[in-house]
Amino acid sequence: MPFEPFYEGFRDLAIKETRNVTIFEDHPTLPADEYGLVEFYCNDENCDCRRVIFNVLSKNRNDYVAVIGYGWESADFYRQWTIRDDPGVVRELQGPVLNPLSPQSEIAPALLELMRTLVLKDPAYVARLKRHYQMFKEKVDPKHFRKSGAAKQVASLKEKTKKRRRSR
Ligand SMILES: [Zn+2]
Repeated sequence: MPFEPFYEGFRDLAIKETRNVTIFEDHPTLPADEYGLVEFYCNDENCDCRRVIFNVLSKNRNDYVAVIGYGWESADFYRQWTIRDDPGVVRELQGPVLNPLSPQSEIAPALLELMRTLVLKDPAYVARLKRHYQMFKEKVDPKHFRKSGAAKQVASLKEKTKKRRRSR
């Protein structure tokens, strides 16, 4: 699965909507810093993996300090998607996990914990990730994704907004 940064296709939106987590002094496991959660999505054709890879960027170090994989769908979804009933594989796809093939720093496990217990518990943020994924896929793979149900959902949301505007 080749992953590409969301900001490459959607620079302005990425600047506006990439989450930064600020950690202050006296945090039990992480050094005070600003951590940018840079989103990467898979650009494989006809692949609906529904995952994001976060490259966590430390502002102080000016370097990536963790690579974290996360899939927002159910275990059942990934079981069917892989066509393998391997709980280890399913758990890894769902995450959040430290991406096994990526370089990780010594604070990566603490960042993973932060993602698991705080950042990914925010439904509004997870909804934003899904929206970014859909936009990204429609751009890199319009043949398959413009037709998908998720695309229709996005379209009907837009339609509703339009109607609301008209009725004002
Ligand atoms: Zn994929």
